[in-house]
Amino acid sequence: MKVLKFGGTSVGSVNSILSVKKIVEAIEEPVIVVVSALGGITDKLLATSTMASKGDLAYEKELSEIIARHLDVIEGVIEDKEVRMDVQKKVMALLDELSNIFKGVYLINDLSAKTSDTIVSYGERLSSLIVSNVIKDAKLFDSRKYIKTVKQFNKHIVDFDLTNKLIKETFSPLPKVSLVPGFISSSTETGEVTNLGRGGSDYTASILATALDANTLEIWTDVDGFMTADPRVISSAYVIDRLTFTEAMELCNFGAKVIYPPTIYPVYHKNIPIRILNTFNPTAPGTYISKERVKEEGKAIIKGISSINDTCLITVQGLGMVGVIGVNYRIFKTLAKNGISVFMVSQASSENNTTFAVRNADADLAVQVLNDEFALERAQGDMNDTVAEKDLATVAIVGENMKRTPGIAGKLFGTLGRAGISVIACAQGASETNISFVIKHKYLRKALNSIHDSFFLS
Ligand code: ADP
Ligand code: ASP
Ligand code: MG
Repeated sequence: MKVLKFGGTSVGSVNSILSVKKIVEAIEEPVIVVVSALGGITDKLLATSTMASKGDLAYEKELSEIIARHLDVIEGVIEDKEVRMDVQKKVMALLDELSNIFKGVYLINDLSAKTSDTIVSYGERLSSLIVSNVIKDAKLFDSRKYIKTVKQFNKHIVDFDLTNKLIKETFSPLPKVSLVPGFISSSTETGEVTNLGRGGSDYTASILATALDANTLEIWTDVDGFMTADPRVISSAYVIDRLTFTEAMELCNFGAKVIYPPTIYPVYHKNIPIRILNTFNPTAPGTYISKERVKEEGKAIIKGISSINDTCLITVQGLGMVGVIGVNYRIFKTLAKNGISVFMVSQASSENNTTFAVRNADADLAVQVLNDEFALERAQGDMNDTVAEKDLATVAIVGENMKRTPGIAGKLFGTLGRAGISVIACAQGASETNISFVIKHKYLRKALNSIHDSFFLS
């Protein structure tokens, strides 16, 4: 069996849903089809919630657009009149529930995380209900019943033991076509609806593929495959034929939005290959992601470039750090205790400072907790106050073939130097599959263009 995931644009219009139908119905083996909310609906649900919670009656207009969008799609995709009326009835029942929740939010001017999670879940509940009535013989399943989450640092993380067990029970025996909503889940402790985070439908598909030992995970989206850079920023970016799991993981973790980062680990663990394919161009070969590292003659030595524009660099500094054991232990323990994620670390061999990158939203808390942790050393003058530099961007170049190939870092920094871009911090792990560096946000586009030209077009 295989698992296919169709993203928002793939189920965003009448024509795209009809393409999904054609793609799925042509497959002979059993499939699980995971769908996102209709394109743009998740954003609209969140924006409408915010309006309602602020007492802005204009939320009603947004809501009526959400309703109209779903009814229009049903009109276009379901030919059989009886089936269409039945689906309209079920969809209207869900939309009525949703309208009542919005009304409640509007009246009490309050939007808790729980209510927001409930509202946003309607996107996938509606889309899966509609698509399950379009694809022949599709059986609809509710992901809240088998994707279970527990809370960790205010985030919902998957409760894999329970989830894997429930998935195996739910999909036995396995129907020819199972249709499931992506993104949504429910709490192991309370049963309340939760979700896997923005872009989480990819993860839903990966969890199902792994629990059921699928032979392939297919991510169907709106581009021809995984590309050398974000095609919206670099117009000359092109499709990468093959990536290793490690390369894909490095690129996604650094902002390549085409796959939600947690998606890769479960399938990597079971060695299930991923294909990235285009719903709007289904015959394109796409990108194949697997364990094997293939040396391709004449191809660029790096595989791709990705970036995160939301970067803050934090520096802990002081001559009193030199040669003292345990300073880094205390820094990272303090950050972990406060739920702050670090995505890049750099320390020079002089040991008098440690610099690391976090999201801008975590910066103030990081500075505060580190100043508290080192209060004594600061009072004695052994260490300085922790400083944060916000509004930066991180760029990474990725490729397993960089290993033991001399000159890559030279080429990278030479290119940046010629473009007049100064590097504020950089890091390369000993695995040599990734070189990351931090620059001022205003130079991001220029940096990406120069590096892409230098590594891929020359
Ligand atoms: P879906 O709704 O199908 O989940 P997403 O919008 O989440 O689609 O992801 C696909 C988009 O990711 C593409 O349209 C593209 O603009 C963007 N993207 C960013 N980086 C890359 C990359 N390296 N390769 C391909 N697409 C990328
Ligand atoms: N609909 C959700 C989102 O927009 C999940 C997904 O599309 O993967 O984030
Ligand atoms: Mg996505």
